[in-house]
Order: sequence, then structure tokens, then C-alpha cells
Amino acid sequence: MIELPETYVLAEQAKQILLGKTIKSAVANHHPHGFAWYAGDPALYNEKLAGKKITGSAAYGGRPEIWAEEMRISFNDGVRARYLAPGEKRPEKHQLLIEFDDGSAVSCSVQMYGGMFAFENGSADDWYYTAAKEKPSPYTDTFDEAYFGGLRRGVKQTLSVKAFLATEQRIPGFGNGVLHDVLWNARLHPKRKLDTLSDADMDALFKSVKATLAEMRDGGGRDTERDLFGSPGGYRTILSSKTLAYPCPVCGGGLKREAYMGGNIYVCPACQPLN
Ligand SMILES: [Zn+2]
Repeated sequence: MIELPETYVLAEQAKQILLGKTIKSAVANHHPHGFAWYAGDPALYNEKLAGKKITGSAAYGGRPEIWAEEMRISFNDGVRARYLAPGEKRPEKHQLLIEFDDGSAVSCSVQMYGGMFAFENGSADDWYYTAAKEKPSPYTDTFDEAYFGGLRRGVKQTLSVKAFLATEQRIPGFGNGVLHDVLWNARLHPKRKLDTLSDADMDALFKSVKATLAEMRDGGGRDTERDLFGSPGGYRTILSSKTLAYPCPVCGGGLKREAYMGGNIYVCPACQPLN
């Protein structure tokens, strides 16, 4: 799933490789998918986008976005976007295919669910999009200790750390993927309740949110995700399905996976004690 670091990586790659190209055609919903979402009628995407020049890109929370003059093409977390070089074979099944004037293309496919929204700038009224665009990103200085403390004071103190960080779009783009390494670096168990955290715990958590997310972004995204060229990111996850069989890099103990709040959590029970 696309989260904060991958959003940034995809937006940067899109800027580098697509800027200045003109959209020749756009085909949306070619292979209908029950959980693929569009802005308005997908049959109108070609009319909306053909002839527009790529003028930029942006990373809002977990929403990478491509700018095509006054149009915006915004993706959400379940979309897999791939750049296709001139002459490269197009996938048989896709939910959005954008062809450019130089023969290159971007194809998008949806795994479980995903949205590919093409709309005129300023016309989106989707709450998730607005939150992603307007709330301070951990990648900015506005997201400082005072802001983070305010987020914490604004919720029930019986919430778990996982629920605090990764639900309700409190931190757009922060999901169940980046969560594990952020909490492992802070030595906090995802099930810890906020009211059990000391000032030192909160300090460690804030620092880890900033530093871990930056490391993931600077590494080109997590190694469990793919970039615009289909390559896995260069950030090596410490806790993920990829590392579960290995010992904890700090204490050498076994890592653990368990289901919690609609997803798996990965922990080192020794480094991240619950009590
Ligand atoms: Zn450990």
C-alpha cells in the first residue's frame, strides 16, 4: 500500500519522468474492478485528460498526484502505478492507462481496492483528499513536538498507540505499513495505551515518527512496496512479512506477528514489552 514515503517517491519520480509530456489518450475502467473508484464517469477520462500537458506533481499524505494543467490525477493507497517506456508492452488488464505523446505511458492497476481520481483543481470535495492535503505532514516543520502533543491530547487516552497513529486520518498517509518500524525504533508496543506512555516515551515516539519516515523516503520507499518503475524501494524494513523469520537486529530474539485492529502487527516482544 502507498503510504507517506512511497507517496513522496512516486510524486518525485512522476515529476522527473513525465514533466512536459502531453497526454495522448486516457482509458479508465478498461478492466472493470468492483473496488476501483473514479471521479465521475470513467468513460469521460479521455475527454478530461487528452491534450493536457504534465505540469507537476505533489505528495499529500498518502495521495500522490500528477498535475496536467488545470487537471489533477490523484491516486489513493491501493493503486499500483507503473511507468512504461516507449514500445514497452502494455498490461492486458488495467484500471487506468495514460498514453503520452512520446510513446511512453503510465498504467494503474488495483489490487484489493483503489481510487484514480481525475478532476479539475479545486473541485474535489472528498474528505480523505482534503485531510491529506491540509493536515501537516510529518515531512514538514509544522509537524513539530507541539503539534504532535496536541494530536495526542485531542484523543481518548485509552487508545492504543497503533490506533492513535494509524487511524482516523490523524496523520494522513501513516498506515499499518510504516507503523511497525516507527514503533520498533521507539521501543513501543503497538497495543500500549496512550495513558501508559511517559514523557520519555512520547519524546521517543515523536523522534521516531520524524526520523523513520525520513529514512524510508530517502531510501526510495520501503522494500515491501514498488516504485513507478516496478522496483522495490531501497529502505530495508526491520519489521515486516519479509523479516519475520529473522532475529531482532538489536536483541537477537524472535519477532512476532499477530492480528490486531484489522491488520497484522509485527513486534519484538523483548524490545517492545507490552507492560
Ligand atoms: Zn529485540
